[in-house]
Amino acid sequence: MGRVYNFSAGPAVLPEEVLKEAAEEMLDYKGTGMSVMEMSHRSKAYDTIIKEAEQDLRDLMNIPDNYKVLFLQGGASQQFAAIPMNLMKNKVADYIITGQWAKKAYQEAQKYGKVNAVASSEDETFSYIPDCSDLPISEDADYVYICENNTIYGTKFKTLPNTKGKTLVSDVSSCFLSEPVDVTKYGIIYGGVQKNIGPAGVVIVIIREDLISDDVLEGTPTMLKYKTQADNDSLYNTPPCYGIYICGKVFKWLKKMGGLEVMKQKNEEKAKVLYDFLDQSKMFKGTVRKEDRSLMNVPFVTGDKDLDAKFVAEAKEAGFENLKGHRTVGGMRASIYNAMPKEGVEKLVAFMKEFENKNA
Ligand SMILES: *Cc1c(COP(=O)(O)O)cnc(C)c1O
Repeated sequence: MGRVYNFSAGPAVLPEEVLKEAAEEMLDYKGTGMSVMEMSHRSKAYDTIIKEAEQDLRDLMNIPDNYKVLFLQGGASQQFAAIPMNLMKNKVADYIITGQWAKKAYQEAQKYGKVNAVASSEDETFSYIPDCSDLPISEDADYVYICENNTIYGTKFKTLPNTKGKTLVSDVSSCFLSEPVDVTKYGIIYGGVQKNIGPAGVVIVIIREDLISDDVLEGTPTMLKYKTQADNDSLYNTPPCYGIYICGKVFKWLKKMGGLEVMKQKNEEKAKVLYDFLDQSKMFKGTVRKEDRSLMNVPFVTGDKDLDAKFVAEAKEAGFENLKGHRTVGGMRASIYNAMPKEGVEKLVAFMKEFENKNA
């Protein structure tokens, strides 16, 4: 059995080249006689791996010197607590609720301070991004929080909210490295890597240095204090070594592909193939307001549950895996991350056309 087209939302498809390279290095990493999995995180070989990974990420995202890059554990979900614990000096924060992940972050933050939902798109099942040009940002807000690409609902912020001078914190788990970003617009950009970068188990936090201090909420665990991690270059304890190594390989792959401008172009072309089809199909419909569509996660429905199920089952038979929509939304979702080749989307669309003709 060969490889399938994997449309999983995460953990998700990785570049085949990277997987092959990792396989080749599995037993003997560059003459060390051991796997990266078996290596001390304090060894010289590993030091090179993590330092190169950081430098390659800095190059790709053009990360300024006054930002730290942290490779952490606990997934994006642990940051839902770490962010308020580290940033809440006034114990006030504003959240924009554009989906389940933003909502979970909002709920977690409520444990630590006064948290305001300054905008929400829940009224229309998160199918759009609210207008964030003039929100009632709190005078004393320590930060404004967004989930930039909504993995489940398939929406993306095309313009960042006007935070009225407050620090912007963004969860970019499912759009990480999908297009260029201006890091200077954020206080923190973070994401779990298992959507668009690497294997589960690593979360990357890019944080402006002035937000890193000992002035954290009382009771903040040592491990959750950004200062602990920053002072120790992500090596306070054993980091997720193998995961970081794979991320490093993906960074090198992205550089080889031409960087984030090129990825953006590719991602736009790829998403267009699917969205153009959805826009003219009589059977399949996209569920998101057009101007807010994600390049990474594309939910769609037929409007008939049984037909949806039939489609997902037949698609699986044909080698298109993980097209079932999130359990809270139903229908279908195709996640078309960086590592999904355009050919995979073209073949999916051809299959959808055929299905539509047969079942019309
Ligand atoms: C998957 C996802 C999360 C949760 O990530 P974990 O690493 O499982 O905690 C958070 N935010 C977004 C946008 C996601 O897509």
